[in-house]
Amino acid sequence: MNMTIDLTISSIRVRPVVVPLDPPIQTSAQLLDSSPLVLIDLCTREGVTGRSYVAAYTPAAMQPLADLVTGIGQWLVGDRVAPTAIYEKLQVRLRLLGPQGLAGMAAGGLDMAAWDALARAAGLPLVRLLGGEPRPITAYWSLRAIRPAEAAKEAGVAADAGFTAMKLKVGHGGLHADLEAIRAVREAVGPDRHIMVDYNQCLTVPEAVRRTRALDDEGLYWIEEPVRADDFQGHATVAREARTAIQTGESWWGPSDTAKCLAVGGCDHAMLNAMKIGGVTGWQRAAAIAAAAGVPVSSHIFPEFSAHLLAVSPSGHWLEFLDVAAPLRSEPLALEVGRVPIRDTPGVGLDWDEKALARYGLSAGA
Ligand SMILES: [Mg+2]
Repeated sequence: MNMTIDLTISSIRVRPVVVPLDPPIQTSAQLLDSSPLVLIDLCTREGVTGRSYVAAYTPAAMQPLADLVTGIGQWLVGDRVAPTAIYEKLQVRLRLLGPQGLAGMAAGGLDMAAWDALARAAGLPLVRLLGGEPRPITAYWSLRAIRPAEAAKEAGVAADAGFTAMKLKVGHGGLHADLEAIRAVREAVGPDRHIMVDYNQCLTVPEAVRRTRALDDEGLYWIEEPVRADDFQGHATVAREARTAIQTGESWWGPSDTAKCLAVGGCDHAMLNAMKIGGVTGWQRAAAIAAAAGVPVSSHIFPEFSAHLLAVSPSGHWLEFLDVAAPLRSEPLALEVGRVPIRDTPGVGLDWDEKALARYGLSAGA
């Protein structure tokens, strides 16, 4: 077959969809029963289509995000599919607005679709295009339940499915509630499995120091986002005071936030969100910064892109198994006893079930 990766962008197709989360995801801040996504098709004159999606977190942001992907995507029509060049172009074009927030998410999604297009055109899985080898990536299960009994039950199911680690949301009550939930999950999964906890930014720095010290004897693998995500100094204070490892990074806007947070010792572990960190291009730069600082890199949602990226990240660590796009996939994300294998097929393996899209798409009145 005559493969070419000399592609030119002809159009960007954008489809907003509200995907139900069943069961819902509970956090310290709210209960999430749906996931508003914006699906991106980057179409080329050569007939290759690169696919990605971005997560709007709240329905109120979905249409504005879709409009930004469309608008920013228009700047790229007629350009070569050259993700590094596109990344730099968008950094310049977004300089006055700021390359973060919804604009940054849109740019990240377009970068991801561009890389998928290149990989498909080359007939390679993304990991191979990036110079790596497909291999199974060890995953942890993100628990959706937050209350002790429900969380323990879900953790038991995950352990039975072969997951060696699971993450529990905490912070919906006081320290006593945290301990009750952690101990219920520990009881359910036994002493040998890893338990991570995630505060989703809900504590003040002094309260985070108090709680992390109190949790230090629970044998937790990491404590995630104890304080506001943009408070790198606050994270550093907590990391200094706690014996348990501190995890943060899912809310970093681009590799510069990685550099800033690690420069002040803000965390022991880094977690990259492929969309917010700047797509595949931004991830590679952030992962290089983390690896140079000796910090392991795990992923946040986007399991299909993250599997390929973790496989080429020098300090690649855990993949978060939380698939908010699951109802839209034409086939489920592959899973082998707590690990996500990377298929040796072109791109990242995103193929949508068009019937599901019709059901959840805004045009269908969802
Ligand atoms: Mg988190």
